Amino acid sequence: MNNTVFGKIIRREIPADIVYEDNSTLAFKDTSPQAPIHILIIPKKLIDMPQNITTQDLEIVGNLFFAAKEIAKKLNITNGYRLVMNNGEEAGQSVFHIHLHFLAGRKLNWPPG
Ligand code: 5GP
Repeated sequence: MNNTVFGKIIRREIPADIVYEDNSTLAFKDTSPQAPIHILIIPKKLIDMPQNITTQDLEIVGNLFFAAKEIAKKLNITNGYRLVMNNGEEAGQSVFHIHLHFLAGRKLNWPPG
């Protein structure tokens, strides 16, 4: 059972502002946005951390990047966007269901904090 907050969003037990969905992927707005556009792109399958991705998950994980491209097209984002996936608490991971942060709408600094 996926008891993370993202599992609840996938099962529609809690609301989310969904911007994209396909067979293996769901994307919705982050409730604590770090940029004017901040979307979380997640696999419907529970994978807790990037470090636990297996060879069986490669298509599912690749689909996250495909969804990012589709979202950029849908939202007409032409100025660039950043895709980030945190692995582990030290790197900032707080929800243990992998997710790609899609950030856009402002100049993004590098290196990140
Ligand atoms: P992490 O820190 O694990 O890389 O990212 C988790 C993200 O999930 C954070 O940016 C946080 O704001 C977001 N988040 C946490 N709870 C919820 C929620 O209930 N709904 C939505 N849409 N985003 C959430």
